[in-house]
Formats: sequence, structure tokens, C-alpha cells
Amino acid sequence: MKPMDSTLRIYEVSPRDGLQNEPAVVPTAAKLELISMLVHAGCRDVEVTSFVRPRWVPQLADAVELVSLLPQVEGVNYWGLVPNQVGLERAVEGGIRCVATVLSASETHNKKNVNRTVRESLAAIEDVIATALGGGMRVRAYISTVFGCPYEGHVAPEASLAIAERLLAAGAEEIALGDTVGMGNPRQVEAVVALFDKAGIGVEKLSMHFHDTRGTALANALAAYNVGIRTIDGSVGGLGGCPYAPGASGNASTEDLVHMFEAMGVDTGISLEALAEAGIYAEQMLGRDLPGRYHQYFRGARQRANARAAG
Ligand code: MG
Repeated sequence: MKPMDSTLRIYEVSPRDGLQNEPAVVPTAAKLELISMLVHAGCRDVEVTSFVRPRWVPQLADAVELVSLLPQVEGVNYWGLVPNQVGLERAVEGGIRCVATVLSASETHNKKNVNRTVRESLAAIEDVIATALGGGMRVRAYISTVFGCPYEGHVAPEASLAIAERLLAAGAEEIALGDTVGMGNPRQVEAVVALFDKAGIGVEKLSMHFHDTRGTALANALAAYNVGIRTIDGSVGGLGGCPYAPGASGNASTEDLVHMFEAMGVDTGISLEALAEAGIYAEQMLGRDLPGRYHQYFRGARQRANARAAG
């Protein structure tokens, strides 16, 4: 069944997925400011960090500390990525209540990412999910490279379906289907959702995580919305990529998503103006231009306004 309501839940990933590739370590206080601005703008689901080994990703070495300092706001869910049991233990230590797991539908991508076969990853993630649920946590589960793999090319949607069935059976509340390197197209999105629906996995169990590597993120998001998807991942300013996927750049920009859907009359619960301010902050924090289209429009309009005021 397709939901008939015109609302959209944005799942904001910039503090984690956006920053994890950034070589210069962002101070914890600046991350907290970005997160606060996203929450202030109306974001209700924010993925704030990943509990990877600090040595592997210095950018996220402050995960436990960051999580302990998050502003507690009614109705806001903070999510942390947990690559394995050790990561989950650190997530518990930090006190986060919502966690996300990840594996790839493509064998080669999964192997390069975590040096495990898909089967090995699935078994380990089932244990992580069981432990998390036992601790009263909520679990979302990402499947990467659903719409294409940088190494293998086409990925059979049936492979993603089989993985999703296992993850849902293990107790994940939501499956996030990742177009990790931006190879997906709207027809593919429709076909994947239809395949899942036929197997009994409704749209309410799915989220879409698009990348704009080839300029298709918004088209894919609209296609997903039109077949009933009501949760879509976004990253402010289009920040981020995937460190293990060559050529993966630019998460779907949260401002672009909010702008387009709100203009269509879809309620995201997010203030575009306040969100755009968060994008400006992220850009200044990193000291380089971000790729999001609405973000660039907003920055340009502000610069012109400032020039007029000064002139
Ligand atoms: Mg991403």
C-alpha cells in the first residue's frame, strides 16, 4: 500500500556521512554546532557519527564524547553508525539510543569496505542487531550499492532483497537502500521498490540514500516519493561521499530535497531558511565550497544582498 499523505521524513546524515571523508579533523564543538543548527531547522533524525576504530577514521575518533554532549531535544533521534560489535559497545558507552548497521549488496564492494564476504557481514550484523535490540536500541540497516557497484557494475536487486529480508527478520526497523556511487535512475528505483513490495516489504520499511554523482539524486528522490517512499536521506550542502567507492561524491543535498518537496506541497517539517544557514556554517567550517545546488543559490543570493547593503 502506498501512503497517501504528503509528508516526507528527512534523515540527515551530514555529521557522519558528510564528514567521514574530510581529511582535516573538525573540532567536536563545531560538529555540535552543525548538529544544533540542523535540529533547530527541524531535522528530527540526524546521523551524528560512526563508531569506527578511531585509528582508522581520525575524523570520527570523538564519537563517544560527541554523543555524550548532544543537545537533548524532545522528538529528536540521534543515530550512530556501528560497523561491528566493538562499535556497538562504544555506542552504548556514549549513550546513543539509535544505531545503524551497514553492508554492501555487492561482494567486491563489501570485501573492499570491510574485508568480509556478504555472508560473513550479514551473520555479524545479525549479532549486532540482536545485542542492540536487547539493549532497547532502535536499529536501521543500510544496504550499499543497491543501484550499482563501482567494481561490479550492475547489482541484481534480488541480492539486496535477500539481504533486506534477513535484516528485517533480525529486527531492523528500517532498511536504507544506498545508491552509493550515484548510478541509479528513476526506473530502477521504481523497479526495486516494486520487487520489495511483491516480496512483502512495504515502503514504510524503506528509506532511500541517494548520491548525486551523476546528477540523478533529485530525480531518484521524486521517483521514490511517487511510489510511496516517505523517508529519504540527505546531507546538508551535499556534503560527503563514500571513502571506499571511487568516484562517489555528493550525498543528495538536504536543502535541494527540502526545497523541491516543500515547493510541491510536501511537508518535511524543516525550515529551508534555517537549514540553508546550517549549510553555510558547514561550508565555513570546512573552508571549501559545497556542491548542493540550493546551497549555492542561497550563498549567491546572500552575497549579492550583502554587496548591496555595503554598496
Ligand atoms: Mg552517502
